[in-house]
Amino acid sequence: MSAPFSQSCAESLDGALHRIFGFRSFRPNQEEIVRALLAGRDVFAVMPTGGGKSLCYQLPAVLMPGAALVVSPLISLMKDQVDGARANGIRAAFLNSSLAAAEQSAVLRSLQSGQLDLLYVAPERFALDHFRELLLRSRISMAVIDEAHCISEWGHDFRPDYLALSTIPELLPNIPVAAFTATATERVQHDIARKLRLRDPFVLRASFDRPNLTYEVRFKEAGEGQLVSILKGFAGQSGIVYRTSRKSVNDTAAMLQKRGFRALPYHAGLDDHERRDNQEAFIRDEVEIIVATVAFGMGIDKSNVRFVIHADLPKSIESYYQETGRAGRDGEAARCILLFAQADIPKVRFFIDAMQDEAERQRSLDSLSKVIAFASATACRRRMLLDYFAETYPRDNCASCDVCLGLHELTDCTREAQMLLSAIVRTDSRFGAAHLIDILVGSKNQKIKDFGHDRLKVYGIGKEHDKKFWRRLIDDLIARKAVGRSEGLYPMLYLLEGGARILRGEERVELVRITEKKSAATRKSAGLEALPPDAKRLFEELRKVRKRLADEQGVPPYVVFSDKTLVELSDIQPTTPEEMLAISGIGEVKLARYAEPFLEAIAQHKAR
Ligand code: ADP
Ligand code: MG
Ligand code: ZN
Repeated sequence: MSAPFSQSCAESLDGALHRIFGFRSFRPNQEEIVRALLAGRDVFAVMPTGGGKSLCYQLPAVLMPGAALVVSPLISLMKDQVDGARANGIRAAFLNSSLAAAEQSAVLRSLQSGQLDLLYVAPERFALDHFRELLLRSRISMAVIDEAHCISEWGHDFRPDYLALSTIPELLPNIPVAAFTATATERVQHDIARKLRLRDPFVLRASFDRPNLTYEVRFKEAGEGQLVSILKGFAGQSGIVYRTSRKSVNDTAAMLQKRGFRALPYHAGLDDHERRDNQEAFIRDEVEIIVATVAFGMGIDKSNVRFVIHADLPKSIESYYQETGRAGRDGEAARCILLFAQADIPKVRFFIDAMQDEAERQRSLDSLSKVIAFASATACRRRMLLDYFAETYPRDNCASCDVCLGLHELTDCTREAQMLLSAIVRTDSRFGAAHLIDILVGSKNQKIKDFGHDRLKVYGIGKEHDKKFWRRLIDDLIARKAVGRSEGLYPMLYLLEGGARILRGEERVELVRITEKKSAATRKSAGLEALPPDAKRLFEELRKVRKRLADEQGVPPYVVFSDKTLVELSDIQPTTPEEMLAISGIGEVKLARYAEPFLEAIAQHKAR
């Protein structure tokens, strides 16, 4: 190991944090990691998405002599990271196949002449002899492996290229090696540390709790109305809608466009061009909504994603956690909504049943049942998620999931359940949900007449409830095994033992109802939502300034300022550069670059 780097006593670490990044304080664990690296020690850190991993190496990279090598798996991610670092005045560059030969030489020259703090490189470089030789002739401060789980076959994103990284400690024995990942499983963790041959690393496993995310599970309604109304509530904010199939992605995106939302599709079936353009449009705040399969997300660092909606069942708890994790990286409040219907389960089961590999089929089934348990339970969602990662949530009430917010209200629906069950019995268990509901609400359609079902005793007795209610109840009765559903294209409902007990009055049925109004009132408001109306208007104006500056510089808006910074600017409304410096996210370089246009917009707003 090289002699530990001792920081000049002129500036404290907090001082450097504020000068370079404009942040008032470290997030949990950041300071320990920064100090370990400055002391020349290897680091292995597992921190959730949005935990602030980049800063852990970017700050020491600036303070230490020489350039830090950062290995990162995706070209798009590298560019965004470099844009972000440069916006803070850090001397950063990247090296990958997207650069022309002349550009690559220019980057290598600046590395050799000591003009870089940070160099992002693709993993495959380390297999090239001339690159390895060049590293020996350059001053390198440390090696950072971002998304380090890519080295593990057990992870969800194995990249064979990453295996070459295990030679780094041999090649550059005198610099610290730091591995970062957001993958939570123990198995992957051990694998990473072993493969990278870390030497007595400083190991950090952060909590996987994401306190700024609110988790909600809602009963999924048929039709498009529900999604549309949820999205209306997020007007103007960025978010992701996840769907399972390419077709449903296309259909949903088209439906939303028709209804006036700025939405684009994303899935592996689109050609490269369109996929990239759609992703860019989302990152640059040109559309608010991206409707996507799970193929979307890994390549983006967009920090101002305010909501993630799962309109279909996620594959596993792990993937649900990773996908919702893309919300609220900037630390501002964000919402994760899972739309869940029992009726979706057979579709997923159908795919799983078709799997050839028996072991894989078992794993998928197991994952699915955990997702169902998560969505059906009425225990704290956050606690359940953390439990899954073997972490115990310390409080009884998280105050930011549908359960803890008390959005569930139990209502006795035994009478209604009996109506439905007796409709099933009276029609000899030969009909599906839609027709049974038609009977109960007294529909006058042809099929009802053809079967003479308008003469049944139960015809129209459930009028006081709408069809949505009845769907919900059927779903619930299926879930509690009071009613069964036949296989096939037109599934018919029939009674199970539990249903017979309900019909005989031996068992009660209580339905959980989501109380929307309460939901708005109880949610702890923070950030943008908590701003007074005047400040909200200013926020909108500042957002336009941000977009204009970002476009001029060819970077995503969140690279200029995060949502958090805009919220603080709108709230405090500084009038001088000094006041502006006190805002989170504004360091020396951003102040010099952006103080003028933003102060002007604030002054104009005040003059109105
Ligand atoms: P990760 O790589 O762990 O997912 P990032 O490094 O992308 O997270 O950081 C997520 C967001 O948090 C970024 O917008 C970053 O600017 C912000 N951030 C990081 N550290 C701090 C801090 N100490 N104070 C405020 N914001 C921070
Ligand atoms: Mg990251
Ligand atoms: Zn909770």
